Amino acid sequence: MSRAWIGLGSNLEEPRHQIETAWSELDSLPETNVAACSSLYASKPMGPADQPDYLNAVALLETALEPLRLLDALQALEARHGRVRRRRWGPRTLDLDLLLYDERVVTTPRLKLPHPGIGERDFVLLPLLEIAGDIEIPGRGRASRLLAQCPSRTARRIE
Ligand code: ATP
Ligand code: CA
Ligand code: CA
Repeated sequence: MSRAWIGLGSNLEEPRHQIETAWSELDSLPETNVAACSSLYASKPMGPADQPDYLNAVALLETALEPLRLLDALQALEARHGRVRRRRWGPRTLDLDLLLYDERVVTTPRLKLPHPGIGERDFVLLPLLEIAGDIEIPGRGRASRLLAQCPSRTARRIE
């Protein structure tokens, strides 16, 4: 089994419900278990400001799905949650980002690992540090160092 870290985000249609449903759906994927879930974090939107605040969390999966098959599954779950892409960083019912997959580095257009946004996003780093400890991000350094240098500081733990 491989270890995959997933960043969850929602700011439409009962975000807490979206994220809690996604946890059980992730656990139901083939050859996949949810091994850990972070607390929920509230954060200000990135990009367009005329949208609701976000709820974010991170989950650790143990999975036998290869990264691209896992990305397929994540995108199918987003679609099931009624995700519509209108503009970059616009509001969404559910966003599932593949943050890390073991220590793999991938640089294709469809899949980049580690996820390119990790180092600049406190709403990813805080929940990741909560359940991953001070994990090493391939090519970037430790999560705690990235958080210390992180330009955005809006996320707060809500439970
Ligand atoms: P961001 O990627 O900056 O967090 P976003 O989540 O709003 O923004 P999406 O519209 O969800 O962006 O995804 C755009 C594309 O990113 C997807 O079509 C997907 O193929 C690609 N992508 C590349 N690497 C990853 C990854 N590690 N996890 C999820 N999607 C990825
Ligand atoms: Ca995202
Ligand atoms: Ca995404």
